[in-house]
Amino acid sequence: MASADSSRPVRVRFAPSPTGELHIGGARTAIYNWAFARSHGGSFILRIEDTDPERSTEENKQVILRSMKWLGLDWDEGPEKGGNFGPYLQTERFNTYTDALEQLKKADAVYPCFCTKEELDAKRAQAESSEGGYSGYDRTCRSLSKEEAQARIDAGEPHVWRLKVPENHGPIEFEDAVYGHMSFPIDVMDDMILVRSDGTPTYNFAVVCDDTNMEITHVIRGDDHLSNTPRQILIYEALGKPVPTFAHLSMILGADGRKLSKRRNATSVEEYAKKGYLPDALVNFLALLGWSLDGETTIIDRNTLCSHFDLDRITKKDAIFDETKLEWMNGSYIQTMGASAWVDAVEPFLVEAGLCTAEDISENRSWFEALYPLVAERSKLLGDAVEKLSFIFDGPTVHLDEKSVNKVLKKEGSRADEVLRAVRDILADTSIAWECDPLQDTCRTLTETLDLKAKFIFQPIRVAVTGSQVSPPLFESIELMKREDVVARIDYTLHEVFGD
Ligand code: GLU
Repeated sequence: MASADSSRPVRVRFAPSPTGELHIGGARTAIYNWAFARSHGGSFILRIEDTDPERSTEENKQVILRSMKWLGLDWDEGPEKGGNFGPYLQTERFNTYTDALEQLKKADAVYPCFCTKEELDAKRAQAESSEGGYSGYDRTCRSLSKEEAQARIDAGEPHVWRLKVPENHGPIEFEDAVYGHMSFPIDVMDDMILVRSDGTPTYNFAVVCDDTNMEITHVIRGDDHLSNTPRQILIYEALGKPVPTFAHLSMILGADGRKLSKRRNATSVEEYAKKGYLPDALVNFLALLGWSLDGETTIIDRNTLCSHFDLDRITKKDAIFDETKLEWMNGSYIQTMGASAWVDAVEPFLVEAGLCTAEDISENRSWFEALYPLVAERSKLLGDAVEKLSFIFDGPTVHLDEKSVNKVLKKEGSRADEVLRAVRDILADTSIAWECDPLQDTCRTLTETLDLKAKFIFQPIRVAVTGSQVSPPLFESIELMKREDVVARIDYTLHEVFGD
């Protein structure tokens, strides 16, 4: 049975193909590899599997690197970082595949196959219509003599190189760290192609060569690769290299129990960043899609993840992506992140909404930080701050929400006009410090002067100043605005609503 050698220092890799953006499933695989490396004092390697020239693009590679950085998954070796086992792009590693093929030729573990596509298609069609069905290449070229094969190669006949699946080999068995004992019968193993006729390696061959040469000890990847594993084990064995420990991760399904799809769900990390999720929240959330610390803790920071992550707490049950839970979790991270980190994170949202510029933020940093407590407890997504805070940026006039005007200012018997006139005088009085408490306390005296309940004082102020009957804490907000703007808003409301 293929068994892993636990004496080697832990080296894991995340190996995306740059055929699209980094999606949620890939991000979870990356997080597990990263956290496993960190919790075992090992190395986390990023390798770009760009051997498919038609589907791999530089742009996708850049998006993947950007998403990895955004998630804070720092790799120890890989693109932009280098390392002793590079290069870290498969297209730059072709000589290593050639070397491995040479080694396999010497060991008589491979053979050239000259069957053309047409011949192979015909064989397959014939086998499929027969009783046993198609069980792989019929090994015609395996029986060619060495001399004949060499003569055909010398004559320039196109050929691929296939692995000679050993004849007296029992089932291929391994202990998957998630799925447990796995066993695959040898007789269904095809003499798979390792090198194509144009000299390029196939996926299984390149992956094994790279994992071997990069001294990878644990392969943690999606279970869509589970069926590749026995094939890859045969290649390790042919190369005489240690087989890593495999851990295959179950699927992530949408809340509807269906596979996540681009059409129905946001699937890429960049989409979640744009939606206003925090990297810490997304990492925490994705880490729990199939792994748990103790079965109950939901908020797990990076340090805890990096010190406690292990493969034995990964479940093989499919994970459900519940965006409501992610939103809740994001809100909880917003609540605890602190003002400075919040300003950095929210900046693109405020700038994009046209509320301010990046320069405004760097020039008035402490003012922006003071906005944080106004929204920290009420936001699920970073962008929620835009809607909640936009009134603060409105200057001397604010858009008055019609429903709020009718419900509060025009309400029968509310005497909102009287209230606002009195409030205007208080707010315009420069002998009262422009601070939350003195302003609020002075306005509160109107409950006695005008003999009205507090809400009949404060709700009209809220509508006149913020434009709406629902807003962040009122006087904490007013304190952050300019006195003349607030007074002007009350004048404006008195004029618009009461014709003053
Ligand atoms: N490049 C492969 C993919 O994107 C991953 C290969 C592996 O992890 O072995 O699915």
